[in-house]
Formats: sequence, C-alpha cells, structure tokens
Amino acid sequence: MPENQLRSRRLTHSAFASPSKALLPEEPVIGRVPCVIVIEAVEYSLKKGGRTMEQVVVDRQGEESVVSGHLWIFSNQVKGRPAGFPDGGLVEIRGERGRFLGIGTYNSKSLIAVRVLSRERAAIDEAFFARRIGDALKRRAGRYGGSFRVVNSESDFLPGLVIDKYEGQMALQLLTCGMERLKGSIVDAVKKSFSPSAIVLRNDSVSRKEEGLPQYVEVADGAIVSPSVITVGPLRFLVDILAGHKTGFYFDQSENRLLMREFCPGRTVLDLFSYTGGFGLHALYFGARSVTFVDTSGQALDMCRENAELNGLSGGKFVRSDGFDFLKNSIEEHDVIVLDPPSFIKSRKKIKEGERGYIDLHKRALRRLSDDGLLFTFSCSYHMKRSRFRDVVRIASYGMADVFLVRELSQAGDHPILLTIPETDYLKGLILKVRRRGAKKGEGRQDEASDGGGPEGTAGKEQLYTGPCEICAENS
Ligand code: SAH
Repeated sequence: MPENQLRSRRLTHSAFASPSKALLPEEPVIGRVPCVIVIEAVEYSLKKGGRTMEQVVVDRQGEESVVSGHLWIFSNQVKGRPAGFPDGGLVEIRGERGRFLGIGTYNSKSLIAVRVLSRERAAIDEAFFARRIGDALKRRAGRYGGSFRVVNSESDFLPGLVIDKYEGQMALQLLTCGMERLKGSIVDAVKKSFSPSAIVLRNDSVSRKEEGLPQYVEVADGAIVSPSVITVGPLRFLVDILAGHKTGFYFDQSENRLLMREFCPGRTVLDLFSYTGGFGLHALYFGARSVTFVDTSGQALDMCRENAELNGLSGGKFVRSDGFDFLKNSIEEHDVIVLDPPSFIKSRKKIKEGERGYIDLHKRALRRLSDDGLLFTFSCSYHMKRSRFRDVVRIASYGMADVFLVRELSQAGDHPILLTIPETDYLKGLILKVRRRGAKKGEGRQDEASDGGGPEGTAGKEQLYTGPCEICAENS
C-alpha cells in the first residue's frame, strides 16, 4: 500500500478502545496489601540553595524498600507528609532518623504514595530526563532498529513514564501524577534527545484513574502520522500511534516472535489474540503453510490483513471472534497454536478467577492442537508466577496429553527486568510440545466426550470462563 494512502487512513479512537494487556504501569497495586493509614500531616521543609523542597518521612519498611533498590513507597509507609501539598509534586524522601533516601514525587490519592526518581540529590528537570533517556538507550545499545521501547517505567528508573519510538515519531505515556506534572521537562528532553517529527502523549490508560488523573490523547509536538509504518525485525507493521493498544504496538513480544522461524516452517498455525498479527505474520514470513488470526477487535484484524499485504504474505485467514468461543466451536486442528491473551489477573484479588480463565483457555487450546503439536503460550499477568503458569498447563492437560517443556520465555530486552523490582518481570512464556493421549488422527477425540477430569475442581463440566469478558467487551 502506498505511503500516502496509509497516511490518509484514520482509525476511530474507539478502534482499539481500552488497551487490555497488562504492562507494569497498569498494575500499581502489586504484591502488597493495600492499606491506607491516615496520619496527621506533619509539615517538613528544607532550605536548599534558596529553594524549598518539601519532605516526606517514611517508616522503616519504606526505607528498606528504597535501600533494597525498589522505587515505590506505599501510603502506609509514609509517616510524615507535607500539609496542603499538591499531588504529584517533588519531595525529598527521608527515613525516620532523618536519613536522605532520594528525590521523588508524592501523590496522596495513590496507594503508591511516593515514587523515587533519583537516589541522589538532583534537579528533576529536562537535563535529568535527558540523562535517564541516554542511560536507557545505552542499556539497549545496538539491539534495536528504528522502533522500540526507549523507556520502560521502573526498569529504566523513571516510574510512571513510558517512551516508545516509532521510527521518527515518539509516543509517551505519563502514568502517574508525578510524571504528569513534569510533562514539560519530559517533552523537552524527548525533543532534544531524538529531534522527532512528532510527539504524542497517549495518556488514555485506565491506570491513570488510580492516580486521580484524566485520560486524554494529546499531540505535544509536530503532526503525528497515524497509522504509520514501522519496521520490527524482518517485517513492516502498520501502527495506529493515536489509538492502538497501549501506544500502538506490543514491543515486549518482538524477540519471541522471531522464534516462529525455528518452529513454524511448513506448519499450520493458529494465532489466537493476534492483535495486528505480530506472531502469525512472522510465522508466514518464516514459511508457515497457513495462519489463522483470531481477535475480538475488528480494527486490529483489518490492520492485521493490511500488514500481511504490506509484507507480501499470503496464507492468512482472519477471524473476528472471542478466542474462547473460537476454540470451542471450531473443529480444525493446528500444528502450532500461539496464545497471547490480555492479562486475566489485573490484581491480587483476581488470582483465582484469572487462573480458572487460563486453565479453561489451555484446555480448549490443547484440544485443537495436532498430535505432537507446539503450543506457544504467554501470560502478561504479573500475578501469575512462572511456576504457577506451568501448573496451569499441567492442570489443563489432565488426562488429555503429555506436555514437554521446550523452552521458557520472557519479555524483550527493551523491557528490562530489574531484579530489585520484581514487578518489572511480568511476561512469561512457554514453548510446549504436546503429545495427545488416546485418539489417533481422524478418530475423534477421546477427551471431548468427557472432560477428562481434573485435579483442581475442573472435572466433569465445561467451565466457561467469564472473568476476562469485561476486558474482551472493552476491546470488541
Ligand atoms: N499477540 C499480539 C498481542 C496480543 S494483545 C501481538 O503479538 O502483537 C491481546 C489481544 O487480545 C488484543 O488484540 C485484544 O483485542 C485481544 N482480545 C482480548 N480479549 C479477547 C478475547 N476474548 N478473544 C479474542 N481476542 C481477545
């Protein structure tokens, strides 16, 4: 498709409404029990070179958290905070005994009350952000082309800030009140660092509500061309930078998609939860016989089809459907199935319900896999632990199949994992080789007559998962 035609196309904002796949900044209440203790405000101030910076005093736990390398302080760890302080303002962070811990932002509305921006005394200005961006680029040096995630929030020491580069255009997410207030310096630093043709603030993430922030999309500089073509790996992708999920593209899977080369040549592939075709198009490019793309979003599928054309790839079938229903209603078998769903577990409270969803999905997928087929399965839920994810597949396969672990996968290197911040490690993937028990090809499936039973209360009934439907509905 000629470039000028692409430029003139516009998707409506609702096209990809409510991005659903979990990313770290959308999961702010992770791993700790939320608990707000209202302490009478204590006013602290510090004179520094004629400028006053307010202080927050944190308890021992908060102090330990910062010393250990984490960047969050929860509201119940704040002992003293500035009175009448504007949410999102800069504060000096002190321990109970007065120890200087760093500079951060404070938000009375958020359970993560303080986010550390610097462990040293530093002016938080354009130069600070430019330095952090420079560090992030060094961390990714030589690994990526023109389009990738430049800054991934906590794992680049900029909690609440995401910067994605789409060739010459930049898409930012300011996910916290602190980052929102620092918008001017951030935009200036991005301009200086990249001289982009345009910058858009994709501040439409639902997680902003938890920070008391409005949702909006704003072109902060230049004129965004959207959809626009980017190159990732061997392929070109159309990306809707103004209205696609997140900022338009899932860069966290860019390295896993390349594995299609090893496993897909000559095979039939099902790319379930395909979005704009990341996995399936790689499979076609590397020689898959055919790929069925399934997604609830019609706009994502339209773009998927256009992406296939853009790369001259044939053999794609595009199905708009709920993924669970598709697996239930189709009888076709596939040599390779890719499951890359949105997060089913958005908070700790939803773990059980979410797990049921994952088990249900895997049960259905295993039934549609050819004998000796391969399953690529992912969970982007931080709350789904790696070992539990294996359990999910084990439970789903009960009485039905023998499952071999071929490889464990994680997120791409432009989403760094910082060991001191466990929440930065969120994407889990498994490549599994599945040997079906019982039925031979063409003889029908033993496991479909009975559910096969299950060790954790899944026996005997078709459990229709309803958990992620609110997510699906948002996306349909
Ligand atoms: N694999 C994709 C990213 C998938 S993101 C890539 O490589 O780019 C998750 C996708 O699941 C989104 O496109 C969303 O529209 C879709 N989705 C959400 N709920 C769904 C459901 N119940 N059935 C099918 N697709 C769903």
